[in-house]
Amino acid sequence: MNYILLGPPGAGKGTQAKKIVEKFKIVHLSTGDMFREAKKSDPSIAALMEAGKLIPDEIVVNMVKNRLKKDDVKNGFLLDGFPRTLKQAKELDKSLKTENIKIDGVFSIIIDNEEAVKRISGRRVCKCGASFHIKFVPPKDADKCDYCGGQLTQRADDKEEVVRERLSVYDKQTKPLIDYYKNSGLLIDIDGLQNEKIVFEQISKFIENGR
Ligand code: ADP
Ligand code: ADP
Ligand code: ZN
Repeated sequence: MNYILLGPPGAGKGTQAKKIVEKFKIVHLSTGDMFREAKKSDPSIAALMEAGKLIPDEIVVNMVKNRLKKDDVKNGFLLDGFPRTLKQAKELDKSLKTENIKIDGVFSIIIDNEEAVKRISGRRVCKCGASFHIKFVPPKDADKCDYCGGQLTQRADDKEEVVRERLSVYDKQTKPLIDYYKNSGLLIDIDGLQNEKIVFEQISKFIENGR
C-alpha cells in the first residue's frame, strides 16, 4: 500500500497524511518535516526554506532514496511533499524499479490559490507534525496540540510574501507532475475544498477499494 500526496502548499497534505497513516498503518514520509529537522543544523537549507525555494533535487532525491531502503517502508508508505519536480519524479521511478516497489495511486488534492493563502496564513503547527488553523481547524485548547499537548507555532515560511513565492514555485515546478501521473494512470483527483473529514472520506474510499 504505497501512495503519494500531491498538491499546492496549504492543500491539506499534512492534515490528511496524519489521518491516513493512522488508519491504514503505513509510514508517513514528509520531506518538508525531514528538512525542518535538517535546517536546525544546516543554515543553507534554512535559507532556501525561509525564502520559499526548493532544496536542490540531488539532495532531496538522495535523502528519499535512503529512506526507502529502511525496513519500515515495506508495510506501506505515504509520500507527502515529494516528488515536487519532474526530475524528482523520474528519479523516484528509477529507484522504485530497482527496489521492486509499486505506487498504488497519487492523490492530487485540488484547491485554488486564494484558498491556499487563507489556509496558510492561519496555519499553526506542532512539533509532532500536526497542523491546525485558527479558524478552519481550531485546536480544542488555544495554542495547544490536540494530539500531544505541544505548543503550536507559526512556520517561518508561512509569511505572506514567502507564501506567494511558494505558490509560484508550485505552479512552475510541481504542477507538471499532475500530467506526469495522469499519463502513468496513477492520478486520483480529490476535491480539497471540502472540509477535512470529507476529504479524508474521499481518500479512504480509494485506499479501501485497493486503488
Ligand atoms: P507545504 O506543506 O506548505 O506544501 P512542505 O512542508 O512540504 O510545504 O515543504 C516546506 C519546504 O521544504 C519547501 O518550501 C521546500 O523548501 C522544502 N521541501 C520540502 N519537500 C521538498 C522537495 N520534495 N523538493 C525540494 N524542496 C522541498
Ligand atoms: P499542506 O501540508 O498541504 O501544506 P496542511 O495540512 O498543513 O497543508 O493544511 C494547511 C492549513 O489548512 C492548516 O492550517 C490546516 O489546519 C488547514 N486545513 C487542512 N485541511 C483543511 C480543509 N479541508 N478545510 C479547511 N482548512 C483545512
Ligand atoms: Zn502535537
